[in-house]
Amino acid sequence: MKEAIFKRKTNQREVILDIVRNTKCHPCVDNIYDEAREIMPRISKGTVYRNIKLLSQAGMVLELSIDHNVLRYDGSTHTHGHLLCENCGAVTDIELTSVSELEQQVKQQGYKINNTIVEFYGLCTKCNIKKDNHSN
Ligand SMILES: [Zn+2]
Ligand SMILES: [Zn+2]
Repeated sequence: MKEAIFKRKTNQREVILDIVRNTKCHPCVDNIYDEAREIMPRISKGTVYRNIKLLSQAGMVLELSIDHNVLRYDGSTHTHGHLLCENCGAVTDIELTSVSELEQQVKQQGYKINNTIVEFYGLCTKCNIKKDNHSN
């Protein structure tokens, strides 16, 4: 039994999936690599890169291109929006209730949707509060 757990823990792809699922920060490959190395010191960045691509092709993680400098990964695969903070660079989740209404409008015009991406650019809640404090 112990052996089975150990074997599962050392499965590189599962460790990588766990890392992405257990954070809300939408990490890039470098961030995932840093965390994976703490669990599996001998893992290479190439392995992380290969596995995250496979997980994204399998639909188990989302690959986000909202940050134009680097691809970031998301363990939440339900339809939700993202906001890139133009001040601190954080990518945060935005839960939306009306995406299906928008999709309905697109379908009514005869299109088929394979993937919906909702991206916002602005200030995260923390930076927005700071900005308000400064202007007062
Ligand atoms: Zn911010
Ligand atoms: Zn997200």
